[in-house]
Amino acid sequence: MAKVKTTFFCQNCGNQYAKWQGQCNACKAWNTIVEELIQKPEKSDWKSSSVVKRSSKPLKINAIDTSSEPRLSSYDAEFDRVLGGGIVPGAVTLLGGEPGIGKSTLLLQIALRLPYKTLYVSGEESQKQIKMRAERIHASDTNCYILTETKTQHIFKQIEDLEPEVVIIDSIQTLHSDYIESSAGSISQIKECATELIKFAKETATPVLLIGHITKDGHIAGPKILEHMVDTVLQFEGDRNHVFRILRAHKNRFGSTNELGIYEMQGSGLREVTNPSELLISQKDEALSGNAVAATLEGMRPLMIEVQALVSTAVYGTPQRSATGFNAKRLNMILAVLEKRAGFRLGAKDVFLNITGGITVDDPAIDLAVVAAILSSNEDMPLQSDLCFAAEVGLSGEIRPVQRVEQRILEAEKLGFSTIFISKYNKISLKPESITIELVSKIEDIVKFIV
Ligand SMILES: [Zn+2]
Repeated sequence: MAKVKTTFFCQNCGNQYAKWQGQCNACKAWNTIVEELIQKPEKSDWKSSSVVKRSSKPLKINAIDTSSEPRLSSYDAEFDRVLGGGIVPGAVTLLGGEPGIGKSTLLLQIALRLPYKTLYVSGEESQKQIKMRAERIHASDTNCYILTETKTQHIFKQIEDLEPEVVIIDSIQTLHSDYIESSAGSISQIKECATELIKFAKETATPVLLIGHITKDGHIAGPKILEHMVDTVLQFEGDRNHVFRILRAHKNRFGSTNELGIYEMQGSGLREVTNPSELLISQKDEALSGNAVAATLEGMRPLMIEVQALVSTAVYGTPQRSATGFNAKRLNMILAVLEKRAGFRLGAKDVFLNITGGITVDDPAIDLAVVAAILSSNEDMPLQSDLCFAAEVGLSGEIRPVQRVEQRILEAEKLGFSTIFISKYNKISLKPESITIELVSKIEDIVKFIV
């Protein structure tokens, strides 16, 4: 029996301490440090046995093959895109997100579709529950094995027998290792289990996908420390009340973090959305005031997004400002610019702003559409529904250029918009056929157009 040892972890950031202290040195949070029991074994857990497929020996630098890593397709175009072209053998990917957002559904769906031998380990649901879930997804003829287990030592034993080509763990918080005394979900357990799984992945070149729950304020510390350990961190987000789910990479050792995957939640699972713009713009017969369309970019993909604003006289003393899917500070800045540079008295008005579809946009090119939506609502003048906007607004009311404007113009043209407003300072060589490009340089140009 090994000697029982304890150590102290910050529950906020996972930093380790030899003794208790009130404030964490690393993240400066107070009262987050707790004691956890650990028992470090001499030997590590994942024993490299006959399963080892990959061993490393020194290579001369010019003998190293620089052709891209072979990747396994996940048979899900959105998932492959976010990963940068597919699953890398031996890579450990963490899929984080709030509980109930659909992480298990996404990975189970992928597991059922994979032609490779896949082991889906669940510590959350019974085999029967997973089977029922799989039936909802309408899967047949799969190569997916379900294991209900939480102890890593048992999981590795099953892996040795089954020799799966892909391993999925749902979720890392439910696992526990014999070598650590503290309960499942504690920092030391998560660290130890992740270390064992990473070692397994690297030594056998088997890709491992981990699910990690995280709350909105990031209070579960596990995934935060995991982010440093794994190769790729994917975030699955979206408003639970909306049907759209967005998958993005926060960290990607094998690709860019700019890509975005969009899914629609349906009764039968998650459907890949290949043309998101059409879904994000509401279909309506008559133009309504307060609506404007922005040509934004999410990663490499252009996305037409509808902005809705409601400007009304404040009922209470203090006017309300609220923004959904858009930075509230940026909204205040735009309102101040409209007040100062264009003379609109918005100080006594309530302003509500909403990005439809429940998604959050941080592309500055959305600014001009926000201005247009606010003005349209303030004047109660609907904009023509075939107009769209792509420009940033500066503090002095200047309309600033945005990156990759030509891609935005082409997307707007493809979706049948007749006119796009962009900054005069954007250099374009494009001569589109069916869309008019309106060049604007200051906020007054837009005001003149709308009011
Ligand atoms: Zn901390």
